[in-house]
Amino acid sequence: MVSGAGTELHTEEYNWAGNLRYSAAGVREPATVPELQDLVAGASRLRALGSRHSFNRVADTDGVLVSLEHLAPAIEVDAANMTVTVSGGTRYGTLAAELQRQGYALHNLASLPHISVAGAVATATHGSGDRNGNLATAVAGLELVTADGGILTTRRGDADFDGMVVNLGALGVVSSLTLDIEPAFTVAQTVFEDLDWDRVLENFDGVTSAAYSVSLFTDWSGDRIGQAWLKSRTEAAAAAERASFYGGLPATEARHPIAGVPGTTCTQQFGVPGPWSDRLAHFRMEFTPSKGDELQSEYLIPREHAVDAIQAMRRLSPLVTPLLLVSEIRTMAADSLWLSPNYGTDCIGLHLTWRQDQPAVEAVLPVIEAELAPFGARPHWGKLFDGGASRLAPLYPRFADFKALSGRLDPEGKFRNSFLDTKVFGS
Ligand SMILES: Cc1cc2nc3c(=O)[nH]c(=O)nc-3n(C[C@H](O)[C@H](O)[C@H](O)COP(=O)(O)OP(=O)(O)OC[C@H]3O[C@@H](n4cnc5c(N)ncnc54)[C@H](O)[C@@H]3O)c2cc1C
Repeated sequence: MVSGAGTELHTEEYNWAGNLRYSAAGVREPATVPELQDLVAGASRLRALGSRHSFNRVADTDGVLVSLEHLAPAIEVDAANMTVTVSGGTRYGTLAAELQRQGYALHNLASLPHISVAGAVATATHGSGDRNGNLATAVAGLELVTADGGILTTRRGDADFDGMVVNLGALGVVSSLTLDIEPAFTVAQTVFEDLDWDRVLENFDGVTSAAYSVSLFTDWSGDRIGQAWLKSRTEAAAAAERASFYGGLPATEARHPIAGVPGTTCTQQFGVPGPWSDRLAHFRMEFTPSKGDELQSEYLIPREHAVDAIQAMRRLSPLVTPLLLVSEIRTMAADSLWLSPNYGTDCIGLHLTWRQDQPAVEAVLPVIEAELAPFGARPHWGKLFDGGASRLAPLYPRFADFKALSGRLDPEGKFRNSFLDTKVFGS
């Protein structure tokens, strides 16, 4: 580590999965918003870095990388408006624990609490639940350091707000976010094993609406589904009391979605009620989430095509299963955020946790994308995918509006990078 310009510079940074090394000479860590403003104003190319959990080069730059991890942490609840305002480097795990302590909750969490709020929101990260929008849908306001170092604040209802939330880091550095909150609630989580694929597909709506959040884990092979994780708000029907679930029986030991990884690294199961903050994520904050030695891809598909898209993936099993650690099927509610893969439609998410063999994974992604294209599959912005801007643009009715917004806020392309050039701005 070396010092520089009132900020700290850390060198040789890799992403969480270790599959890419950022192109920047190092990572700057401003301690205050004015320091951040100076850094942004003085740089010709710059990107914000969250907690480095993306699997592709979305966060990368050959200019200056900025982490807000050392910004003075702030978590301020506004009980009258039922919102919380957090500083740009805050992680969900820290926020969730503090909200629970004060008697409040977020509507949902991703599979892991380790990620930064700003980074997760920028890529439309999501959990599961038929009625749950992705995590970006909780954003009620943003504070953004724009290309000239100025501060732009925007709230839900403002012009262009819906374009600024899922921003891929392309519009500036988000220095704080205001999120909707609700009173704290209790969740019971139960894992069922060895479900019957045919019964699940015949009753797909019944399966995904059986709890507040439902996840199915499969490797796509055979006629059984490995696991179903049901997270029920305990004021609603108690999944914990089901004797079976579409042919699956309750697990008798704590489970991890990936075979061979101890279930003790996962959140409490067996239907034991507990705080939302300790149940909505799959993985506990104090352990490495998922496996670590892995890659990920995910495709978000309009709900009306759920069963057909799942059947297409099952047909690809001979190609896909040998490369997989596990796959997860989740659901999300529609939203109005321009670059959200859930824009305008309820969705299912077909997620793939791959073995860490990037050339082999990159060889099958075009095949998967060709199979899922008829269903209007939109890739997760933070995971590995093949398609470029020409394939993505027709999937997003507000794509051109986002590019125009970026042109207005960042006329010199300070926040552009190779990922954005290929996936958003290319032809
Ligand atoms: C083990 C594991 C499990 C995962 N589980 C899920 C899951 O359940 N659901 C899901 O949807 N995704 C999941 N993901 C993907 C992950 O949520 C996304 O990649 C997310 O973007 C990671 O957030 P981050 O803070 O690490 O962002 P980074 O990867 O660091 O950055 C992502 C983007 O956010 C931008 N950004 C970050 N901070 C700011 C800021 N302050 N201002 C402006 N832009 C900013 C960056 O420029 C970049 O464009 C998982 C990833 C891993 C490694």
